[in-house]
Amino acid sequence: MRLVSPCLICGRRSESGLCAECRANFERAKSVSDAPVLFSDGAYTLFDYSSPTVKRLIFSLKTRGLRGAARVFSDAVFASAKAIPREIVCVTFLPRRSLARKRSGVDQAELLARAIARKFGLPCLKLLRRRGVSRTQHGLSFEKRQENVRGKFAATKTVSGIRGAILLVDDIITTGASATEACRTLREAGARRIYVLAMAKGGSR
Ligand SMILES: [Zn+2]
Repeated sequence: MRLVSPCLICGRRSESGLCAECRANFERAKSVSDAPVLFSDGAYTLFDYSSPTVKRLIFSLKTRGLRGAARVFSDAVFASAKAIPREIVCVTFLPRRSLARKRSGVDQAELLARAIARKFGLPCLKLLRRRGVSRTQHGLSFEKRQENVRGKFAATKTVSGIRGAILLVDDIITTGASATEACRTLREAGARRIYVLAMAKGGSR
């Protein structure tokens, strides 16, 4: 049973984080599509980022670290079976730049990964960390982004011991450069199969 709480978008009465109207908008924005992530065995995005409802949910995840928003997304992942292949044995996330994390105190990809892992009864493991300071990716072309993120992640030793597939979670995929570099790093560290799941496909700034 869910408790009645204010809607995360409009503040009206809701039973699952969103009121009926915002829930309908959220459901309408659902569109599973492939994302351009090299070194992965499959990469998907679940929602259309041009939807104001999706945008606001991701924004509240990012700025306020709202667990309710992470739960709304993890419920949606659970509902669309196609988004998570059965062979996955653990969930991990693409860590934010430390400056961004320091500023807001939250890592939205980690929040999402933890909520998704909980929903599926899988462990959530921190398998990647950022190395050094990377510049923001805003306004860079795919090639420049690729260059910018090269070598920016380091994998933990745990990776080579994972027998099954790993699910790498992120909030938004734009060009896929960061996720590509994260997958490359995980592969180098011995990951066998990697799937990538982001809540939305970006592009609009
Ligand atoms: Zn609402």
